[in-house]
Amino acid sequence: MIPVNSVLQVGQFPEIMQREIDRRLSTTKLLDPQAKAPEGGFAAILTRSNTQLPQGLLEQVPTVRMVATCGVGYDNLPLDYLKANGIQASNTPGVLNDAVCELAIGMLFSLLRRIPEAQAFVKSAAWSKSPFTITTTLAGKCVGIAGMGRIGQDLAKRLESFKVKIAYTGPSRKELPYDYHPNIKALAQASDVLILACPASPETDKMINAEVLDALGPQGYLVNIARGSVVDEGALLVALQQKKIAGAALDVFENEPNPNAGFLNIDNVLLTPHIGSATAETRQLMTNLAIDNLEAFYNQQPLLTEVKN
Ligand code: NAP
Repeated sequence: MIPVNSVLQVGQFPEIMQREIDRRLSTTKLLDPQAKAPEGGFAAILTRSNTQLPQGLLEQVPTVRMVATCGVGYDNLPLDYLKANGIQASNTPGVLNDAVCELAIGMLFSLLRRIPEAQAFVKSAAWSKSPFTITTTLAGKCVGIAGMGRIGQDLAKRLESFKVKIAYTGPSRKELPYDYHPNIKALAQASDVLILACPASPETDKMINAEVLDALGPQGYLVNIARGSVVDEGALLVALQQKKIAGAALDVFENEPNPNAGFLNIDNVLLTPHIGSATAETRQLMTNLAIDNLEAFYNQQPLLTEVKN
């Protein structure tokens, strides 16, 4: 049982998530995380991965012992502060894999087969003047996955049916039937398509730089469904403009919701507004898992999906 008004909701949630929160909980809402914290002896915070939770806010509510974030990425949380103050945290891994994998595969085919441009071509009646450009097949290519975790492995399983070779990199080699490369440059060199599915961290910050893009090469494609910080966007823009790589599909950006304007006017990039988990079914599952974690906390049970910080 979660006591009434003992949870502080920080940030705005899409309607489908807010409905579920309001059905299961009675929270106090702080829609602007930069605003002053409301009065109340809150024991827990509920937030989501697109909301940066400021350390200053936690300092204003020292009663908080637990933070539940909706999303698998927890780079929105002030992890050092949480650790130093013994504050627990939970995320929502696993329940969003289907939606994120489906988007990644949709982006991959849209990019290779130029589906958005093909639709614009038909709608603008350009078809009656000339045929659409010839594109490229996925089958036979090598798809490299940077980050063979929950999403990476689910993605690899789906990709197997598309007759591709799969390779990966990451801190640890797994018992998987795919080629392991010890670093991102070696993976890029071996790949025709490089998909990013790793977390944002100091180690992955701007991991996709000019050198890695050069290794991917002029026939290579990049798909980023991880976090914007993993890519050096300046280097990627140059690589796209100078055709050092063939194209990129980006769901995430360094600056959301106002991505680098350079991406908006080039034709070898496909952009989506951070919608990896944005399906009704998935958002409902994420909200419920976040609330189940809050319940476990209030019942003094182990968190279901604790962030090991
Ligand atoms: P996960 O199970 O923790 O997997 C992350 C994987 O990344 C792990 O296998 C880890 O390797 C690997 N990794 C860590 N550091 C790396 C590095 N430097 N280079 C390459 N790989 C590295 O997490 P997940 O559930 O698959 O989610 C992955 C990420 O996807 C999340 O952190 C989030 O940022 C992003 N995401 C985006 C969306 C979206 O809307 N676009 C939605 C959901 C998730 P080890 O196994 O060796 O530790």
